[in-house]
Amino acid sequence: MTTDYLERGLHEFEHGNFKTAKEHFTQIIDKADDSDDISETLKRRAVCWHELGHYNDAIDDANRIIKLDPKSTSGYAICGNALTKLGKFEDALNVFRLGLKIDSNDPDIKNGLKGMQMDIMEGFEKNSKEGTYDAVKMSSQEPYPGDYELEILEREIMCKWGLNEFPALDLTIPDTQKAMREYQNAIQLKKAGNDKHALEKLRMALRYDPADFTLRGEIASLLHEMGEHREAFQHVQCIPGDFRLPKYWKIGGKILSALELPVHAEAWLRSGSKADKTDVEMPLLFQNIRVKRLYGPLTEGTKVNVVFTQYGRSIQAAEDIKHGDACFRDKAAVLAQTLDTIHVPACNHCAKCLMRAEDYFGKDVLARDAELRKIVHRHWPVRPTIECKGCGTQTIYCSTECRDESWSMYHQVLCTSVNPAVEQLHAVAAQYKTLARDNRCWKGLWNASYSPFVLAKIWASVICLAHNLATQEGRQMPTAADWTMAKSPFRKFIAYGSTSVIGVIPKMVQIMQEVFDNAHLPAHFRYKITNKEFDGRYYQASCNVQAFSDPAPPFSIFMRNMARDGKRDVVMPYTRAEPEDALFAGMFPLHACLNHSCDNNVEVLDGHPGVSVKARRQIKKGEELCTTYINTRMPRKERRAWLYRGYNFWCQCPRCKYEGDGPDKCTECGKVAKDDGRDKYPGCGKCHLAWYCSTGCQKAAWKKGHKRICKKC
Ligand SMILES: [Zn+2]
Ligand SMILES: [Zn+2]
Ligand SMILES: [Zn+2]
Ligand SMILES: [Zn+2]
Ligand SMILES: [Zn+2]
Repeated sequence: MTTDYLERGLHEFEHGNFKTAKEHFTQIIDKADDSDDISETLKRRAVCWHELGHYNDAIDDANRIIKLDPKSTSGYAICGNALTKLGKFEDALNVFRLGLKIDSNDPDIKNGLKGMQMDIMEGFEKNSKEGTYDAVKMSSQEPYPGDYELEILEREIMCKWGLNEFPALDLTIPDTQKAMREYQNAIQLKKAGNDKHALEKLRMALRYDPADFTLRGEIASLLHEMGEHREAFQHVQCIPGDFRLPKYWKIGGKILSALELPVHAEAWLRSGSKADKTDVEMPLLFQNIRVKRLYGPLTEGTKVNVVFTQYGRSIQAAEDIKHGDACFRDKAAVLAQTLDTIHVPACNHCAKCLMRAEDYFGKDVLARDAELRKIVHRHWPVRPTIECKGCGTQTIYCSTECRDESWSMYHQVLCTSVNPAVEQLHAVAAQYKTLARDNRCWKGLWNASYSPFVLAKIWASVICLAHNLATQEGRQMPTAADWTMAKSPFRKFIAYGSTSVIGVIPKMVQIMQEVFDNAHLPAHFRYKITNKEFDGRYYQASCNVQAFSDPAPPFSIFMRNMARDGKRDVVMPYTRAEPEDALFAGMFPLHACLNHSCDNNVEVLDGHPGVSVKARRQIKKGEELCTTYINTRMPRKERRAWLYRGYNFWCQCPRCKYEGDGPDKCTECGKVAKDDGRDKYPGCGKCHLAWYCSTGCQKAAWKKGHKRICKKC
């Protein structure tokens, strides 16, 4: 009898019919007595339970196996696998460990551990998709440097408009009963959409009970809705701060924002957020006001706005933008030529290429060929090279304007004639190409694609600005407030780094510390760079630098002019090789607000000076502008891994949402091909980037969004 059940059970088991197999095995187990060895049958039944998704039953059987044979590892493997499926990873790990104590090489346990890791990874992917990152919470609501002066200015305006005065009101004999009745009438009218009459009733109610703060608040809200911001504010500020409910702080903030008084608006919203930490609208309003005043001046005259959403800053189209149109231009806050191209002459301040004809053709060639000389003379654009008055050829410019601006902004701290310690940075730049590279690092000196001068220029800019601020006030040494203010332009740039770089490039840390704090520098230029600040600036640069170069270098202008003149033949033998570009890395404040999408609608081009952002397709008003941080031709898995490692986010762009990772999983429903008894699923015939278990899934995905991103490769 038992053998009968066993045979049938094994047969069903081998054919994957776990439900029937399980029933046969149960017959054997239930009929067994103490003398029978049922551990093999229990093992098989446990596998059935597992395959059927009954993980707790599998665990029960596993425990029986362990009890029957404490030296067997299979009980532990079965139990660990079931716990994994239940998401109890820590318990699973403990069980696997017990199994490994019996046999540290057991293949089932090892596979179990591998499976658990995969499940953890998948869970991690799912969690990352939820977006644990909350931009609003991460953004500070501290007053911005320089706000104090602005606040005084706003207060003057508020006085002029009479915002702090009591609103005019005909008082009458107080009667709270009547006030209540009028208030209720007002509520009914407001509900019916009759704002004007509702307001009349509210005013009437206030005449009977002028000390009722709720009435004040409701009148303020209604007036604000009707566009009567000034009177609205008079009412809401009648409520003493201690009695102001969060919703009235919010109304006040909205009114002040509508009146274009951002510092006061921020202050009201800050108080409101503190009073009600559950309100999500206020912090968002706050950041939007802040973003508007910080970026408003940068976006003036462009086709874009900077806005703040729960994912952080982003750039939106302020109007419809046509395919190919320039959306905005951006000038670098700091820039430096990349070490790889340092030998190509270019303006240190604006990146203009200063290559002369003799740099390209060579002096000898020009001396030999008179005709070439003539053509060069006529067509090679003349760009004067202006040297620094202090360090000479070490730092060159395209114009005296660039030289003077550079000097006052940062070079007065970085000129070797003033600060000999900077020679160390020039030495790094000069040796860079010949230095041996190991493990993405040059002898503990440097490891980034941008030049360390980017960092040096940030610190030098901060120092010069702090000094200028102090001098304006007639002080020799900058105060703490001056330093905070001087650092503020760089607060626009986010920084993310998971580990410290101090240990990777210790020599550069030391050089920078010496450059900004040494005996040659006057006391007011000295600045101590802590390890923490070094890390912060390093990652700020790493996360934000954008490569760019002169869009019209002399060589291409020469070639264009010369071709028009029909002198190609004379020059051809000498112009086989294109000269190298003077490549720069810059930190651009507006460009830094562009978010990533693997389906980017803008591209970043060289502009002069700086970068220019162009639409790759039609962009509608209100749509977000997105660039790409990576090579978008990589498959989804790689793109996401790159973005996660490099920029700490899990890409949720339309492409990442509606493309899959491979044919073994349905892109739409997540079903695994193997579980479906299949080898793989067929892919989208057009793009081959998504795979579906059924036409139903394919149709659903197409409708939801695959349609938008599906392209013929
Ligand atoms: Zn220049
Ligand atoms: Zn100089
Ligand atoms: Zn993406
Ligand atoms: Zn599916
Ligand atoms: Zn497709």
